[in-house]
Amino acid sequence: MSKDYRRYDTLAAVKELDYPANGLAENGEKGIPVNITEIFGENTLHLDLLKERLPKSVWKELKKTIKDNEPINIDVADAVAVVMKDWATEKGATHYTHWFQPLTGQTAEKHDSFITPNQGGGAMTQFSGKDLIQGEPDASSFPSGGLRPTFEARGYTIWDPTSPAFIVENKNGKVLCIPTAFASWKDGEALDHKTPLLRSNEALNKHTLEALDLFDVKAKWVSSTGGFEQEYFLIDQEFFYRRPDLVTSGRTLVGAKPPKGQELDDHYFGSIPDRIINFMMEAEKELYRLGVPVKTRHNEVAPSQFEIAPIFEKSNIAADHQQLTMITLKRIARKHGLVCMLHEKPFAGLNGSGKHANFSIATDRGQNLLEPGDNPHSNMQFLYFFTAVLKAVHDYQDLLRVSIASAGNDHRLGANEAPPAILSVFTGDQLEDIVNQMLNGGAKSSKQGGLLGLGTSVLPELPRHAADRNRTSPFAFTGNKFEFRAVGSNQSVSFPVTVLNTITAESLRQMNAALKKAKEEKGSLEEGLKTVLKDTLEDVRKIIFNGDGYSDAWKKEAEKRGLLNLENTMVALPTLVDEKNIKLFEEHKVLNKAELESRHEIWTEQYFITLNIEAETTANIVKTMLIPGAVRYLNELLALNDRGKSTGLKVDSTSGLATEINDTLGELTVALKELEKQNAELGGESPFEKAKHLHNNVLPAMNKVREIADQLEDMVADDYWPLPAYREMLFVK
Ligand code: ADP
Ligand code: MG
Repeated sequence: MSKDYRRYDTLAAVKELDYPANGLAENGEKGIPVNITEIFGENTLHLDLLKERLPKSVWKELKKTIKDNEPINIDVADAVAVVMKDWATEKGATHYTHWFQPLTGQTAEKHDSFITPNQGGGAMTQFSGKDLIQGEPDASSFPSGGLRPTFEARGYTIWDPTSPAFIVENKNGKVLCIPTAFASWKDGEALDHKTPLLRSNEALNKHTLEALDLFDVKAKWVSSTGGFEQEYFLIDQEFFYRRPDLVTSGRTLVGAKPPKGQELDDHYFGSIPDRIINFMMEAEKELYRLGVPVKTRHNEVAPSQFEIAPIFEKSNIAADHQQLTMITLKRIARKHGLVCMLHEKPFAGLNGSGKHANFSIATDRGQNLLEPGDNPHSNMQFLYFFTAVLKAVHDYQDLLRVSIASAGNDHRLGANEAPPAILSVFTGDQLEDIVNQMLNGGAKSSKQGGLLGLGTSVLPELPRHAADRNRTSPFAFTGNKFEFRAVGSNQSVSFPVTVLNTITAESLRQMNAALKKAKEEKGSLEEGLKTVLKDTLEDVRKIIFNGDGYSDAWKKEAEKRGLLNLENTMVALPTLVDEKNIKLFEEHKVLNKAELESRHEIWTEQYFITLNIEAETTANIVKTMLIPGAVRYLNELLALNDRGKSTGLKVDSTSGLATEINDTLGELTVALKELEKQNAELGGESPFEKAKHLHNNVLPAMNKVREIADQLEDMVADDYWPLPAYREMLFVK
């Protein structure tokens, strides 16, 4: 059969779909509703459990580390290992794994069984303190960016006692996962995302405590807090597996725009389709059991796009939980015949997916240092930390930009629905007004929101927030936290948070020194503060922008202000190893020069590997699927032409169509040749040269091919087109 009817099978499959019930079916016809408080954390070895099961003295020691951020006393490891093994095996786990975050941005695991043979020919379970503290995966194939030549490829995984161990289950068994850092055997250089995150939090802790001391506020420690909103797409797996581009690259490399996209905004916050909410409920239930406090779910702007958001936590734990969220969404989607796509831009012409990284700083007593209160103008402590973050973004726009740079995010940033590649901060009217007052001699008042007049007495009177929301800023102050919105949906949040921690620590370090001096000179904290805040704000005020970040006018204005516009990954990445940035990371002991250079190399490599796979997949799809499909259709048209001649039937219009298709096929072939030629070239020896070749030569060739292929899709008979169309993938649920 020359025609391709397989697509229609898919539609039939969706129609017949009997999706699994959210755990209710396991409990009989009626099912038992999920009791969140009962299941929450049942698959994690959480604090209460540790306290209950550990000898008192051990618990006391461990608590100092987990709760009070004190260095771990390693003598406790044996006792913790016993508790961990008992708990895990009681729950049915047979294996354990050190769970870590290599620089690929994903998570990694290598499973070991608890089993050890005993003398009598049977077996027993074993797991020692040593097994807990340190693992040595044969991990020579993880990218190390030169930190670790393959011939001395040892890397260690090291237990992170502050992040709870958890159990991952499937139908045939369970595995205990122990969050760990991953470092090289040579000098303990960080090969992962967790180590620098922990180090940066210590830098932030140090300089925040120093600041709090100046304000006479007592705190044992502080930590940044993170709440990460995750956007994602869901499509039926039948469509997914029929698209080689989705399978290899996670995004559609060809595909004509559907007649209906997101123009009607009818999906955003719409009622969630049954099949989807069924999936969401099961995914959330799994996350609850893993102790991940997910809270919010809704439809996003693009059709088939959704969002999930948790309650914020200490950033190290929140980052682990973010990884678990991504893994769980993908895993559970498959059970529902769906595929969860986390790519930043799976569908051209529609909104992409991001991850909003909400960021603040909290003390051990739970005080949020970015809480402005009702009268921010008189809350000098708030204004101090707020200004420190403004300064951080201003001084290190380049680092924030690098922290979100990837081939995937390049499609999203600066497109018409995502923040631009220019960093700026949205403060809202109220705070902008206070900043202006401070610059003019001192803040005397805070603009208040007043009441929301709804014009009807049946609705309750509500206080109006002092600031509206702004959706177009890459970095917005949203009430009592900052929201970094340019983070890519598929990336690990750890490096962006590492950067935020480090640059805020650096701002505070500089401001603290200035404040100490000014306090002495002026004779009081308050007068000293006025000077420091005014001076700092004068330096950094150009980073504040409360207007429309998507507009072209802003690009011009930003350029006038001298803000950086690092438009894509290729221009952003090199700044990672600028002297000023190396100095920053070294001074705060977050990453040394070699560690930074390795990251630069790995991310450059990832960039070109991603593009290379995309380019080769594009060429392959066009050559082996699209052109053959179009040729078959052309053949049919030509046959009609011939029969027209023999029967005397006039077939001018179809012969015109044949000519059009033939011409487009000709153009496509030329573009394909060019793409193949560029694919065959390397561009140079170093990762950077290769990446440059891909960016400058391959990417444009790929775009050209797509443009013509998409035109062809609109000409060829639907039943000859071998790929599921946008309208099917996005609207069949
Ligand atoms: P918005 O709708 O403005 O994004 P939400 O209240 O829905 O605000 O919060 C979004 C995310 O921000 C949630 O994940 C939430 O937990 C997180 N968040 C709230 N407060 C903080 C904080 N102090 N630190 C870090 N994240 C926070
Ligand atoms: Mg938000």
